[in-house]
Amino acid sequence: NSADNSEAPYPRWIRINALKTTIEDQLETTLAEFERATSVKAVRQRGSKKIFIDSNIPNLVAVSPGVDLSKSEAYKLGAIIFQDKASCFPAYLLDPLPEDGDIVDSCAAPGNKTTHVAAVLLSHLPEPDECSQTVHAFERNSGRAETLERMVHLAGSDTVTKLHPGQDFLKADPNSSAYKDVGALLLDPSCSGSGIVGRDDMPKLHLPVLKQSALGLSKKKQKYTKLPDPTKDTRKRKREGFDEDLDVMIDDDGMVSAIDTVDELNARLAALSKFQLELLLHAFKFPTARKITYSTCSIHGEENEKVVSKALQSSIAKERGWRLLKRTEQIRGLREWPIRGDVEDATGDIELAESCIRANKGDEHSTMGFFLAGFVRDEKAPDNTE
Ligand code: SAM
Repeated sequence: NSADNSEAPYPRWIRINALKTTIEDQLETTLAEFERATSVKAVRQRGSKKIFIDSNIPNLVAVSPGVDLSKSEAYKLGAIIFQDKASCFPAYLLDPLPEDGDIVDSCAAPGNKTTHVAAVLLSHLPEPDECSQTVHAFERNSGRAETLERMVHLAGSDTVTKLHPGQDFLKADPNSSAYKDVGALLLDPSCSGSGIVGRDDMPKLHLPVLKQSALGLSKKKQKYTKLPDPTKDTRKRKREGFDEDLDVMIDDDGMVSAIDTVDELNARLAALSKFQLELLLHAFKFPTARKITYSTCSIHGEENEKVVSKALQSSIAKERGWRLLKRTEQIRGLREWPIRGDVEDATGDIELAESCIRANKGDEHSTMGFFLAGFVRDEKAPDNTE
């Protein structure tokens, strides 16, 4: 409720949906009464009504936490989308261009990144109406696929999106003619959700859209997690914080995770990382693919650098010439982003860690905890069409 919102120390991140509006228009309308701040920190002041225009991600702003824009026309029309800054990293890094052909979003619901990918893709075209590229959006859970469909429609990205509701990406045949032009894949698999800020205001915004039944939650489990105070804890202490009586989390992406004990967390991390690696190796098999992003909202190395490292060592990666997108090759806003992968989690591989991107929960950047890595295959790499 709004009383909780006014207490929230985090700003609200808002992605301006370029498919429906422009940042200039929104600054003059929906956001007209906000005072311009020069840092995200200034926006966090309680009782303020400020706006900060992000310097890393285009079309992204942060507004003061107590202000509720969920009733605004712009929100209802899909012109503005509540999306954490870090959650905007993958589509921006993937940067689908006209020459990249079709795009796959392997784990799409509720569709924040699908709609962002569509917006970036169309921003590169002089005539967006004439886009011949397709964003294939897979969502295994059919309830959540309905939410995805609604979001894709609301955001105005349905013309370029092909939904694959109830379809497991791992069962999609990379050699099928349907995917012969897939040049870029965005992988944002289910994860432990340990990077999510444990606060009430973000999930509540999505609850009217998401059906509880679609989330697969029993009535008893419909409550939010009590996470350690994100502003005080070090990353290590946050990890240790998981032996608290953690129950169910619903993140801003509508994801659910239930963790009760450290043993359960470890078992869950093992299962999740196995699935995450499998997903990445499957993506490597798409014959014309040249770019992949892999992301999680987890702070655990097991789901992040370690998955990346195993993927790079796989025979399929070597065979097809997949490598990490180096920091120096990354799009400006992420090349300049200061928080990189964890060297320890990258088992001492400094280069690997530097190529990876992280965001920390509870630091001065006001983001959720997040991880992202980009993979590329160079033009000279062996073409894997058989
Ligand atoms: N990318 C989404 C966004 O930004 O809004 C959030 C994705 S959420 C972290 C992961 C989603 O992937 C869940 O909705 C889950 O049901 C779906 N999923 C998990 N495994 C899948 C698979 N093998 N194929 C397709 N979807 C899958």
